[in-house]
Amino acid sequence: MATGYLYHEVFGWHDTGSSAGLFVSDPAAGVQPFVHFENAETKRRMHELIVISGLIDRLERIRPRHASEEEILRVHTREHLERIKAESRLPKGGDAGDGISPFGKGAYEIATLAAGGVITLVDAVVRGNVTNGYVLVRPPGHHAVAGNGMGLCIFGNLAIAVKHAREVLGVGRIAVLDWDVHHGNGTQSAFYDDPTVLTISLHQDNCFPPNSGGVGERGEGPGFGYALNVPLPPGTGDGGYLYAMSEVVVPALRRFRPELILVASGFDAGAMDPLGRQMVTSEGYRTMTRQLMDVADEVCDGRIVIAHEGGYNPIHVPYCGLAVVETLAGAEPFGDPLLPIMAGQGGGVLLPHQKSVVDQVAAFVADISVVTDVSA
Ligand SMILES: [Zn+2]
Repeated sequence: MATGYLYHEVFGWHDTGSSAGLFVSDPAAGVQPFVHFENAETKRRMHELIVISGLIDRLERIRPRHASEEEILRVHTREHLERIKAESRLPKGGDAGDGISPFGKGAYEIATLAAGGVITLVDAVVRGNVTNGYVLVRPPGHHAVAGNGMGLCIFGNLAIAVKHAREVLGVGRIAVLDWDVHHGNGTQSAFYDDPTVLTISLHQDNCFPPNSGGVGERGEGPGFGYALNVPLPPGTGDGGYLYAMSEVVVPALRRFRPELILVASGFDAGAMDPLGRQMVTSEGYRTMTRQLMDVADEVCDGRIVIAHEGGYNPIHVPYCGLAVVETLAGAEPFGDPLLPIMAGQGGGVLLPHQKSVVDQVAAFVADISVVTDVSA
């Protein structure tokens, strides 16, 4: 069956202004205006590489729709939704909530199209129109919490899609793997007490948000044990990430037996990213995708929805993204000219201090069991 693919040109029109990377430009304070790290180019170039490489011909294009207010409100407060909507009408837009997440006029409509885009692909996968797929959306979503946006995210795209799958499509158990270099705090917080949604975040230790995503964050109440966090030390590359996949992610999915797997796919664990200090290559992302597909074949008929999050190097991100989508579609590698340079930098080796973090979390996997009562 086919692999779905969703991108819309308007995602490139989400305007994050002239910040100097993350910092609001301020000439009086010596901060020269530049472009925000979260700008259109990483995603636009990934889409164009998917087209130029010919991969697009093997994909089933899916058109996004806007998420409704009702769908947004399954995760967010009315106050947050109304504030974003109001600021989105202002001539110069507003900020998602933390002062480093600016948006231009009309961002509300683009953000609801991003959230609705993930819903659309979840619909297509659950209804069997496609086996798996990639949603190349913008703005990202995994940091947004119920009452606030943060970390360049406005609405929790994936969390909203999980709620849709649970409440509308009747999917019982859902797993969310987050391989963005930053902690998937927003997605985690939406399901922290829910044993029917397993969240697993592989991220750089204490990168963003500060003091978030430690090994000890494991869920609460009935959801205890159904949040896993692997805070990998800076400098972790393919060696550490693939070890985390094989020792934590794959066994956890085997025990949990999700009916649907979602991935918060950031390429900011890539070796050239300005906001992360990890060393993952496009081949690393390719192998992680393969590992995930193998376990998905075992537990949920291959049903995987991968949704784009971060990744801020406009040269490297497209090759990492291409590798993931090629793998989903069973296509041969087009090639990554950066790979020989990165492969020689040593990230392929698993180091002892990386292994010890993964092993610590791997011990928690035994506490996961298949939840059969999904009525909660
Ligand atoms: Zn990120």
